[in-house]
Formats: sequence, C-alpha cells, structure tokens
Amino acid sequence: MCLTCPGIEKTIENSSRPVQIAPGLAVGGADVVLMAGPCAVESYEQTRAIAEALHQLGIRVIRGGAFKPRTSPDSFQGLGLDGLKILRAVADEFGLTVITEALGVRHVELVAEYADVIQIGSRNMQHYPLLWEVGQADKPVVLKRGFMSTVSEWLSAAEHISRRGNDEIILCERGIRTFEPSTRNTLDTNAIALVKQTSPYPVIGDPSHATGHADLVIPAARAAVAAGADGLLVEVHPEPRAALSDADQALPLEALPELHKQIGRIAAALGRSLV
Ligand code: PEP
Ligand code: MN
Repeated sequence: MCLTCPGIEKTIENSSRPVQIAPGLAVGGADVVLMAGPCAVESYEQTRAIAEALHQLGIRVIRGGAFKPRTSPDSFQGLGLDGLKILRAVADEFGLTVITEALGVRHVELVAEYADVIQIGSRNMQHYPLLWEVGQADKPVVLKRGFMSTVSEWLSAAEHISRRGNDEIILCERGIRTFEPSTRNTLDTNAIALVKQTSPYPVIGDPSHATGHADLVIPAARAAVAAGADGLLVEVHPEPRAALSDADQALPLEALPELHKQIGRIAAALGRSLV
C-alpha cells in the first residue's frame, strides 16, 4: 500500500506498460509523445493546415474533437461525423495517428471506425456505461481525469475499462478545479508523478485545459514532462482568435517549434527522447 495515499495500491514503481497507439509508436516507453491539434475540428482547411505543421516537425499524433462536450448548449458542438472524416483524411495524407473524443455510448463504434485512439473527456470520467463500452472496444483509450475527481476515483474509472477487457489505457491529467480562479484549472503535477508510481498505465499531460491560457501552455507542458508525463496533448490553431472553442488556450502554429524544442530539452534532461 502507498501509506501517503490511503486507498491507492502501490503496485509498480515507474514501470507502466507502454500502450501501442500505432505501428512503431507507443506511449509509456522511453519516448515522450507529443500530440497536438485543434480543440475542435472546424473545417478541412483548418485541420489540414494543422496536420501539415505537425508533420513538418515530426509530430505523429493529431488530436481534435468532432463531438464536443460544451458547457453551453449555444456553443459550437462539433462537426460530428464530418469532423471524423476530416480528421481521418488529413491524418492519412500526412501519416498521423488520430485521437478524438467519444462523447456518448452511441459514439464509440463510430469513433473507433475513424480514430486510432478514443478519448474519454473529463466530464465523462465517471460515465460508467461509456467506460464499459470503450472497455469492449479494440482501440486504446485516453482517460482524462475528471476535473473534480480524486486520483483514486480516476484509477477506479480506469479499472471499469480494464475489467471489460481493454487494458490499453493512457491516463491524462488535464487540470482540476481548485479555489484559484486566475487559471482555468490547476495542473496537478503531483498526480502525474503519483499515477506513474501507483498505476500500470502511462500518463500524459494536457497543459491546454489545465491552464486555459496560451501563454501558460509551454511552461505547464514543461512541468508535466518534468513530473514524468509520457506525452502531451496540446491544443493548437492556425488562427487562435477565430477558434470556435477554447480560443484563449490555443497555441498558434508558429509556437509549435518552440514547444517542440523546449519539451525536447526537458525530455533529454530525463534521458528520454521526444516523438
Ligand atoms: C478536449 O480535449 O477537447 C476536452 C474537451 O477536454 P476535457 O475533457 O479535458 O475538458
Ligand atoms: Mn478544448
């Protein structure tokens, strides 16, 4: 048992099993995997511009929401199936791996058809029928931490997935709600280090939702990797101010080389390389 965190079994010290997300590409091994893309897929042109920028830097994973969990029903809800098709088309053009969110049980089959990795969003971390459904899917799952969830609840959610047969799980720390209003959320770097030691799963950090401010994304990304994250999920946009969702936190494409450079240095300091 981990004495400092009652209820959490301390099973494995820094030895998560890598999760293969594409041929020759694993999360949780020696490499730190950078994944980036728009908050929401808005158009073919927007997504293709991003994919091209990722490709130029050797970034191999594109993220992007086709089904968006928006707080307001008046906000852009995503392009749905058209968004999945755009993601797949541009990813295939540039040889990228796709990660996108399944918002409900009925999306899982469809998302699995187009994506390589299924994302479970923060708001859905305790949506158990959805966890059971992805637990039966034949695709790796990124399980975001609920923004009001404890580490123990997060790991229990992962177990709901694994008990249904799918052990290809990547945990994602995306910031939790605290008393601090000056950032959107608070990146819990403690949790990154903790789940590395107490769970068999790789963990990635999402500095975009954790901070809510583009200017804070690179520093928070550095912190996540320094704490042991096996990868990063970062929101970028060709024209951040025009983004239909999460505009404030979108990095412009011009910032990608700097992100890549800085994360590469942190990874290297830890004896890891950056993919
Ligand atoms: C997202 O990744 O676009 C997203 C909606 O994130 P979260 O579920 O962490 O809020
Ligand atoms: Mn977002």
